[in-house]
Amino acid sequence: MIIAIDGLAASGKSSTAKLLAKKLGFIHFSTGKMYRAITGYIINNELHENLPDSIINVINNLNIIVDGSNFENIHINNENYSNNLYTDEINSLVSLVSSISEVRKKMVKIQRQLAENNCVVCEGRDICTVVFPNADYKFFFKASLHSRSNRRYLEMKKID
Ligand code: C5P
Repeated sequence: MIIAIDGLAASGKSSTAKLLAKKLGFIHFSTGKMYRAITGYIINNELHENLPDSIINVINNLNIIVDGSNFENIHINNENYSNNLYTDEINSLVSLVSSISEVRKKMVKIQRQLAENNCVVCEGRDICTVVFPNADYKFFFKASLHSRSNRRYLEMKKID
């Protein structure tokens, strides 16, 4: 079964998905981590100067392995990109990286393979429309600008 959650930035998708998955005994799949991991790879390999071509040229040859009880372990070409995914550098580049359609295609393919035959609460952009349009349950989260900015501020304070 797939429960898909999309929504506005900092609208509570992650916290809700995490709690719901725990309650149901489902996998909590934060697809944003995959985009953060590929952004980390781009930074480490100095591909960020020549985006999008630099990543488009290599994306189909990258060996991306995602596993772990909540699909939280991400390896790209045998290097671990599971940690330190919330740095300022990644935060400022991830949105650009995730807008590259070749990157999205590769990520979506992996996300579908992972979720197949599993019980998953999956959150992220395009999850309800592009990745799992036939999900069993679909939600789109909204919240006021005030509560979204407050949530993001608290998150950033926690990470610092
Ligand atoms: O959810 P998180 O903040 O970790 O996601 C990081 C970024 O990855 C988002 O701001 C968005 O730009 C991108 N993303 C995406 N599609 C997804 C999940 C995340 O483009 N399914």
